[in-house]
Amino acid sequence: MFDRDSTINVDTGHLHEPEKLELIPSTVDIMRCYFEDPEYKLVVTNQEDIAKGLYTEADMRNLHRCMEDELEKLGVYVDAWCFCLHHPDYTGACVCRKASPGMLLAAMRDFERECGRLRMLANVLRLLNRILFACDIGIGARIGPSCSFYHAGLGVRNPC
Ligand SMILES: [Zn+2]
Repeated sequence: MFDRDSTINVDTGHLHEPEKLELIPSTVDIMRCYFEDPEYKLVVTNQEDIAKGLYTEADMRNLHRCMEDELEKLGVYVDAWCFCLHHPDYTGACVCRKASPGMLLAAMRDFERECGRLRMLANVLRLLNRILFACDIGIGARIGPSCSFYHAGLGVRNPC
């Protein structure tokens, strides 16, 4: 599973316009390597800006279609785009927003995969100034000790 903003694409803030999409080549390289693997590739992303009214679910889906097109041109095929549209202050609590494990557990159920085989790539640099990656590690603790996290995103030079 791949986190989206700051891992697959540069986080430009409230990203929803395809013309602002900028893929991160090092992560694309990792995703292409995984393409050799029979495992599924899933994107898992919190999109709370939709709950805040900054853009719509249709905007996000349009961006995901554009991302899919750009990734396929680079030989990367994503099996599913998983997202949470909620934010506790705007829509109330939900089970799918990371660092709750609901989104990841549902995806593994849909793809009939065991939790212990989850490998997740996220931008560890977020640990320095954001709590998201720390929260992602929290997900691992909730899913099981064999859940693995890998660094991806800006700052990786030789991912393969
Ligand atoms: Zn949610």
